[in-house]
Amino acid sequence: MSTTAEAVVVGAGVIGASTALELARSGLRVTVVDRFGGAGNGSTSASSAVVRFTYPTVEGVTAAWESRHCWEAWRDHLGAPAGEPLASYIRCGVALLDVDFAPRALFTRHFDAVGVPYEEWDADELAARLPAVDTGRYWPPRPVDDDAFFADASGRLGALHTPDGGFVGDPQLAAANLAAAARRHGAAFLWNTRVTEVVRKGGRVRGVRLHDGTELSAPVVVNAAGPWSGRLNQLAGVGADFTVGLRPLRQEVHHVAAPPGYHGGGRRDGAEAEAGAEGRGGAGSETRVGPVIADMDLGTYLRPEGRDFLLVGGTEPECDPLEWLDDPDDARPAPTASRFRAQVTRAARRLPGLRVPGRPRGVAGVYDVSDDWAPIYDRTGLDGFYVAIGTSGNQFKNAPLVGRLMATLVHGVEGGHDHDSHPLTHTCEHTGRDIGLGAFSRRRRLSETTGTVLG
Ligand SMILES: Cc1cc2nc3c(=O)[nH]c(=O)nc-3n(C[C@H](O)[C@H](O)[C@H](O)COP(=O)(O)OP(=O)(O)OC[C@H]3O[C@@H](n4cnc5c(N)ncnc54)[C@H](O)[C@@H]3O)c2cc1C
Repeated sequence: MSTTAEAVVVGAGVIGASTALELARSGLRVTVVDRFGGAGNGSTSASSAVVRFTYPTVEGVTAAWESRHCWEAWRDHLGAPAGEPLASYIRCGVALLDVDFAPRALFTRHFDAVGVPYEEWDADELAARLPAVDTGRYWPPRPVDDDAFFADASGRLGALHTPDGGFVGDPQLAAANLAAAARRHGAAFLWNTRVTEVVRKGGRVRGVRLHDGTELSAPVVVNAAGPWSGRLNQLAGVGADFTVGLRPLRQEVHHVAAPPGYHGGGRRDGAEAEAGAEGRGGAGSETRVGPVIADMDLGTYLRPEGRDFLLVGGTEPECDPLEWLDDPDDARPAPTASRFRAQVTRAARRLPGLRVPGRPRGVAGVYDVSDDWAPIYDRTGLDGFYVAIGTSGNQFKNAPLVGRLMATLVHGVEGGHDHDSHPLTHTCEHTGRDIGLGAFSRRRRLSETTGTVLG
């Protein structure tokens, strides 16, 4: 059996669903294929969905700042009818605690250029704004079983605060919202369907074959397979000209009770109240939640989950072994006691009121990590085969823009533009800024990077 489309997107995570929306919006007949039963059931479902602007490249900052405008106006972005339940954006602010290897200037020079508002807090200001936080400097992160972990602070630290940062309340719903919007523009979704072959002929992609033998013909195929992207590239026979490698990495995010005082008590600006557009904590809500705290000094990050809980993740401190996987399907889904204790004990060092429960609670997910922790949004050596991959645990926030970048790329290249020699530029709708897509090339010189999930 054979069917046809003008573009096939493999993967209906937040990146694939956004790509499908923008390709369909631009007039293409799009079919999306996903091995799971609905949108956002892959790594997107485990995402902490933090929206921060602290990237070490100007393209990274621009992408995150533009995307934040999309999250703030999510219903408009989607063209969703009133009444459709939507993911909400919680604008609680992000405090990036000081750390020498990622000094504030690495980010503020780009914030100044792009127009991202920020505040620089010294230790006294951090203590005044967030009284629940211990302002001690503990660098370098250490295993929690090491006595040195409990050594006294070597000094005090401040923070770089971006009041417009926050998180998306329900990442899986956000992907489903994008899929529903794509459907309104005519995109078709094939659920519980696996791509087992990329069909190619004479240096050009011809479509994909599905696990039941059906051939789906299309002149354009986009790999948005998340941590499975390397496997799909192998099926397509692409990768030889990539300078950037990819590996799946298992990660855990833990769920604990928020400590007393985390949400308030400090000095705040009027604008810092929670400002989700709709849904939980949404319009009219007086509820305030504490900020996202990114703490590379101790190797952890955390964000509120409702009023009562926190999500706690890790920033790949060198003292912790990383769980690289050959196959993303090998990832154990349940949180482990050792990782839980390590991450939550670090968070408790920063928030002394936090209790470390005996029983682990949380989720495990898989990052699609590139060598420089930056994504690849590009064409490949196989004409018609595109990639939106290598999202490295930090691209949920950029998904609304990524769909648009991919549409610019597909239309430019299919229209005859030599993107490899003269990289295309995308002009952002909200900020009016240009993003050079060469920054996301598969053949780039590895970019400046923190070597962590920060990008
Ligand atoms: C634990 C964790 C925390 C994170 N926290 C943040 C954060 O705070 N902020 C942030 O910005 N980002 C964060 N991220 C990163 C972000 O969530 C991901 O970059 C993003 O969700 C990736 O989306 P995706 O669509 O590329 O991948 P996925 O959501 O994994 O989707 C890929 C889809 O492809 C499908 N697929 C794969 N192979 C095939 C095939 N052969 N046939 C058919 N279907 C196939 C899968 O079924 C899957 O649904 C985090 C990620 C994790 C895992």
